[in-house]
Amino acid sequence: MTNYREFDPQLWAAIDREADRQEHNVELIASENIASAGVRAAQGSILTNKYAEGYPNKRYYGGTEYIDQVEQLAIDRVKELFGAEYANVQPHSGSQANAAVYAALLEPGDHVLGLDLDAGGHLTHGSPVNFSGKNYHFHAYGLNDDELIDYDQVATLADEYKPKLIVTGASAYSRFIDFDRFREIADSVGAYLMVDMAHIAGLVAAGVHPSPVGIADVVTSTTHKTLRGPRGGLILAKAELGKALNSAIFPGTQGGPLEHVIAGKAAAFYEAMQPSFKTYGQQVVANAKAMAKVFNESDLVRVVSGGTDNHLFNLDLTETGISGKKAQNVLDQVYITTNKEAIPNDPRSPFVTSGIRIGTPAITTRGFKEAEATQVAEFILQVLANPDDEANLAEVKQAVVDLTSRFPLSAIEHAN
Ligand code: PLP
Repeated sequence: MTNYREFDPQLWAAIDREADRQEHNVELIASENIASAGVRAAQGSILTNKYAEGYPNKRYYGGTEYIDQVEQLAIDRVKELFGAEYANVQPHSGSQANAAVYAALLEPGDHVLGLDLDAGGHLTHGSPVNFSGKNYHFHAYGLNDDELIDYDQVATLADEYKPKLIVTGASAYSRFIDFDRFREIADSVGAYLMVDMAHIAGLVAAGVHPSPVGIADVVTSTTHKTLRGPRGGLILAKAELGKALNSAIFPGTQGGPLEHVIAGKAAAFYEAMQPSFKTYGQQVVANAKAMAKVFNESDLVRVVSGGTDNHLFNLDLTETGISGKKAQNVLDQVYITTNKEAIPNDPRSPFVTSGIRIGTPAITTRGFKEAEATQVAEFILQVLANPDDEANLAEVKQAVVDLTSRFPLSAIEHAN
């Protein structure tokens, strides 16, 4: 066969266009990052050829002796990284991890508490359009008047419904979550506590965010957000739940594990154990705070809850008169990538919204520090002040290209 690029130019042209987009765009999607060359090489390796249903030393296929070494490395590393008693690195995604935990701990129809989607929760925390909301009886808690998780409401709902499981964790919540308070509430009604740390896992690994491990019965995560690994999921838990959780992943909800992705996870966990990852985590938070400061000082927008403790925050665009959808589109035009996001009590539909979510994991990997993060926040304000002025947009777009060209992806130390 000829070179794969020559064999399938149509596919590779599309991939190359995406590479160009990543090169010149400022990536502010809070759930995205830039995986290292090591992670990508492991994920693109010949491990994709191998079936390995089961777990290390308990497989249903022959020829798995080296696969076992890879998966065991990933398990041992993630246990060490987070100080966990048990780990399962096979979930294909964060949603699969959550599905397996529910399958292990719940019966269909059981009562569960989860953070409302509108308040920053995830679809798998009980949305009616998701398997979680369809199969289990979820009750949503939300935010108080200060736009912080309403722990009193959680306690009241727990008392009322006596849930078997309380789920916390978020996709768009900028403040530390009080895991001890959740533990207390769960214990008061004999519920399991699950923390979905998908967004904050890298910050927890870097020691810049309180850890839920050891407090919650089960902790789930994705591996591709702040943790900066390949796309995938994982489950951590107390040892006594390990057997049930393993069975819930395989054979319960998944088939053959993606061992090439698991190799990528092992590579990412190793990177996250290095001192440089701590520096990275600190910079992610410093950059988010620097951006939030610029927005807080402007009359045009409002930072939901007034600031951030982590890698993200939501901007309330009500004063601008433009919707989250329009802001996302117009920022796209100037090569700044964000996503529309509902604000608390948003009068607009989830497809339109009155806010955008902004996150700093990817720009920090790229090398941006507070000065560049501040500049990006100023670009956003310049766009939002005059979103229909073509000359204004052209000026910002040029400034964005100038900025990103000073930080080429090829210059990221771990990306090559
Ligand atoms: N949990 C949280 C809190 C998330 O934010 C996400 C993804 O955005 C997920 C779970 C689901 O992860 P995945 O997209 O890998 O299924």
